[in-house]
Amino acid sequence: MIQQSNLSANLVRDLYQKGTSYVFAKKPVDIAEEFGYSQVARLASNENPLGPSPLAMKEAEKVLAFMHRYPDTNHSDLIRALKDYHGDYSFVTGVGMDGVIETCIRVLINPGDNVTISAPTFSFYGLAAAAQGGIVKYVPRKKDFSVDIPSFISSARDAKISFLCTPNNPSGTVTPVSDIEEILQNIKGILFLDNAYVEFSSEEYRPLMNRYDNLVIGRTMSKVFGLAGCRVGYAFVPDWLKLVYEKAATPFALNNISAAAAIGALQDHEYLEKTITFVKKWRDKFIRETVKPVLSSGANFVMIDTAPFTGDKATDFFAQNGVLVRSCRSFPGLEDHYIRVCIGEEWENIRFLEVFRKI
Ligand SMILES: *Cc1c(COP(=O)(O)O)cnc(C)c1O
Repeated sequence: MIQQSNLSANLVRDLYQKGTSYVFAKKPVDIAEEFGYSQVARLASNENPLGPSPLAMKEAEKVLAFMHRYPDTNHSDLIRALKDYHGDYSFVTGVGMDGVIETCIRVLINPGDNVTISAPTFSFYGLAAAAQGGIVKYVPRKKDFSVDIPSFISSARDAKISFLCTPNNPSGTVTPVSDIEEILQNIKGILFLDNAYVEFSSEEYRPLMNRYDNLVIGRTMSKVFGLAGCRVGYAFVPDWLKLVYEKAATPFALNNISAAAAIGALQDHEYLEKTITFVKKWRDKFIRETVKPVLSSGANFVMIDTAPFTGDKATDFFAQNGVLVRSCRSFPGLEDHYIRVCIGEEWENIRFLEVFRKI
């Protein structure tokens, strides 16, 4: 009998022997079973509650008969659809925005290079940077969760790549375009602006691409476009980066079917508008009707201060009452008394508000 544990201790990199990993939301089926609910309100993962776009499904179905073929490496149909949607920018694609983040880091970071991250925020930037041997520096946001621009610049000045999320996950905070410009003018490396939720806000960052060659804007099809399960992400990149990105990317990473679904979703303006209107209506209602402090948000979720309860304790309470929310304990640089709650279907939102009144 082979001793698996010895092999693991001998072969696996230190980083993964100990180290932290991405924290996933609990599984709705587990909660349902544990507490006897037939349906659990899934408000922990910021997904689109309206189901997939009918156009996305139609486009995906059309290519099922070609699944024996490798994809077009450049995904030129998807790039064309992105240009139709956004205008004539340079784009790269990946397996989710997570895939895009990972490839950008692979292009830029040698072991020992600096990576700056505005925190608290999405954890994957730090995990991906550490995996490549980058030295990660977290720059704390201010008390109101706005970015401390001078501190961010002073840390990002010698970083090869810096990450700033706006609207920020988990706080929902929107950083003004003028602050982003100030950063771009004062750093030498790349600023990766994570715009996963930007469609739910009214801030417009895209024109900055025409003026700065050190800006990357990451986008995803997982949130407003309703394709979380398809894993499609993309980014606006300067031309010089597109060339090297394509060298570094895993061959054929993004599959045919997901790319086709993304093309359909990008063309479904009706679905998009319906989602945004629905989310904004409920976001306002959440902010008005919850009994604890809720931060203003430019995203499809809100962050709620649950003090004196910890995020985990509040999350358990919601779970016992058939509502899955996200404890913010695992977000680097955040005190442990927050939860993040996304807008779900009508019945899910109603149940959330009911349970919240009992806390
Ligand atoms: C969801 C999310 C992403 C990535 O989503 P993918 O599903 O990998 O495209 C990136 N950044 C933030 C802040 C997110 O919340």
